[in-house]
Amino acid sequence: MGEMISIINQKGGCGKTTTAVNLSAALALLDRRVLVIDMDPQGNATTGLGIKKSELESTIYTVLSRKTGLSDVILPTELQDLYIAPSNISLSGAEIELSSEIGYHAILQEAVRDVRNEFDYIFIDSPPSLGILTLNALVASDSVIIPIQAEYYALEGMADLLKTMSLVHERLQSPCPIKGILMTLYDSRTRLARDVHREVKNFFGESENIFRTTIPRNVRLAEAPSHGKPCITYDPESTGTAAYMKLAGEIIGMECE
Ligand code: ADP
Ligand code: MG
Repeated sequence: MGEMISIINQKGGCGKTTTAVNLSAALALLDRRVLVIDMDPQGNATTGLGIKKSELESTIYTVLSRKTGLSDVILPTELQDLYIAPSNISLSGAEIELSSEIGYHAILQEAVRDVRNEFDYIFIDSPPSLGILTLNALVASDSVIIPIQAEYYALEGMADLLKTMSLVHERLQSPCPIKGILMTLYDSRTRLARDVHREVKNFFGESENIFRTTIPRNVRLAEAPSHGKPCITYDPESTGTAAYMKLAGEIIGMECE
């Protein structure tokens, strides 16, 4: 059965979408069958994988409002073995609409049952908030990857995220452990990046996995989405591509644990 992993951090701009798109593409290149579920109304993962989001009738929104099944909205991408369940701005209404539904926190978890066997990995790209969309992502997932930007205030809001995760565990009996913390936009030459890395290690202690791979700041990673491609196909030789391939190797190394 496919492993479901949410890429989560309510902070915007820390590399969630870049990680969802490029880690998924890297795993697809390594012969895994991968689905990206775009749970952000901004639809950046959708665009980044080459889908014109404004023309879509069936999206994650129609799945969450139970008008279509998840298998009805899944689209292929340019990369063999990489699929996307797209979103667009219509998803922005979901937060309010869903809050009156019974079992609103578990709609994605139910929807995903039909397709779980078809994929090795399912990654959820989540929005920059801790609302109903993120709650659905957490409840549906086996674990989370938390990208942290190597910047000032990197850990701001982290206590709220961990509290939300432990509430989901306790109240909904839905544990969602941390698969790994990922340092992003990382420049190992700067003292700031090293300081933040140390701070993150102190904050999480020995008990949580911090990925050995760090993701460097790389302009090719930032350019690729405007071409509707993962960096891995846009520029296979870039340092951004190399970093996400290395991270994919780390994830595959965890498969037999
Ligand atoms: P989030 O999904 O957490 O809001 P994004 O992945 O969209 O973050 O990244 C925010 C911005 O930073 C985007 O413009 C993206 O292209 C850019 N970006 C993300 N990671 C990198 C990186 N490692 N190097 C260069 N630019 C990056
Ligand atoms: Mg994003």
